[in-house]
Formats: sequence, structure tokens, C-alpha cells
Amino acid sequence: MTTEIATGFELLRDAYVAEIASQVRLYRHTRTGAEIMSIENDDENKVFGIAFRTPPTDSTGIAHILEHSVLCGSRKYPLKEPFVELIKGSLNTFLNAFTFPDKTCYPVASQNTQDLYNMIDVYLDAVFFPRLTPHVLEQEGWHYELENPDDPLIFKGVVFNEMKGAFGAPERALNSFAQRSLFPDTTYGVESGGLPAHIPDLTFEQFSAFHRTHYHPSNARIFSTAMTTHSSGWRSLPPIWMSLSQSRPTRMLRFSRPSMRRAP
Ligand SMILES: [Zn+2]
Repeated sequence: MTTEIATGFELLRDAYVAEIASQVRLYRHTRTGAEIMSIENDDENKVFGIAFRTPPTDSTGIAHILEHSVLCGSRKYPLKEPFVELIKGSLNTFLNAFTFPDKTCYPVASQNTQDLYNMIDVYLDAVFFPRLTPHVLEQEGWHYELENPDDPLIFKGVVFNEMKGAFGAPERALNSFAQRSLFPDTTYGVESGGLPAHIPDLTFEQFSAFHRTHYHPSNARIFSTAMTTHSSGWRSLPPIWMSLSQSRPTRMLRFSRPSMRRAP
């Protein structure tokens, strides 16, 4: 079923999903290809999420560092840490961001619709118009640090330190190695969180290009329980999408045969 609706979207599917007692409608923004799933139900918790397909091709942690970095100030909200301000100053019941091996998700929730719309505004500006500078990459990704002239030069950075800590746990290291070995030659054959030994290979050019390529409406999937086509939140979205140019992410390679790997 494809039904043209007034706001520049086409309705692709409309179904009642009994398991979650919700009327679920899937729309596509005709100009950019962005898809939005509107979920209507009686739940007092209002939810919004935007996710991008972000398959990395190496273990520099590019998608993970970008997830941290887009929440470090944007065009409309040029603060140091809008994310921290939202945690302190909103009525959110959930607010976070996650990097998976092949996607990055930004979910928020609140019991107050206006509060949710405020958070959506901050999150959408963050993902589409972040202030990505070399300094942000140094802060969130990696940089050199030298406390005293006689000390050895060391690496530091939010994600670098986070992943160093994560890989201090044997289960995490084993899990990562198993996944990378089971799916070589695909995006699952690299560590999306970033391997500490590879994170310092990431350049600012690669970092900003990854954002340009992947953080685009055509690569976005949105879901919300507070956005029907007649809501004010819905009407605020198209101007953001319209101002962005078309781009398509690269496709993942398919793996063809099993292979044997030995843990180092
Ligand atoms: Zn992180």
C-alpha cells in the first residue's frame, strides 16, 4: 500500500500490532527517503528514536567516536555538552545513545510531550548539524598527552580510555574476538567500539567524511510514539531533511565461506 499524504510523506504500511496494543504506521519522506514509524498507543511514556546504518570498515571506533562527538554541541545548541544539560534539565525518563556493530541509535523518552519535543529538537540538531572539529575528535577519540617532559608520550581520549577499560575484561575481549572471527570480511569482522591499538589511526578527514556519508535522512530510521502526522513534532522535521543533500552509504560486502581463526 502506498498512499500520498500532504506533508511530503507516503504511507507505506498501516497495521494494528496487538502485542504492543498499538496502531503502527510506516511512512517514507518522499524527497530524502527517510523512514519514520509512528506508533499510536495509550502509553504515558512518549518515545522517540533516530537510528543510522553505520557499518564501519576498520576498528578505529569511528562510529562510536562519532556517537560521542555529535552530542558535544551543534549549530543550534553550541554548548559544550548538550547531552549532559538534557540529563540535568529535562523530564526525561530515558536519554542515551548506542553504537552497535552496524548501526547507531539515539533514543529519548519522557512522559511530557513538550519535554520530548524539546529533546527531539536537540537530538536532531545534534545528529544532522554537529560541530565536528579536530578538537572534538581529540577530546572524544584520541590525542597525545605528556604530563612532564621526562614522561613517556601516551594516548588519551574519552573513547580510547573507555575501550581500554572495556578490553580489560576478558569476556569482552573474547566476545569481540569471536565476533570478528565469525564474520570476517564484513562489517562484523571489525570492532565498532574501537580497538585501542587502532583508534589512533583515525584522522579528522575520515571522521568528518563518515558523518557526511552516514548521518543523512536517506540513511535514517525514526520511530516515535508521539509523532502522528498532525502533531507539531512531525511538522518540524521536513525542513531539517530538506536542507540536506542526498548521499548513500556504501553497501556491506557479503561473506562467502567459513574460515578458521586462532586466538592470539
Ligand atoms: Zn562510549
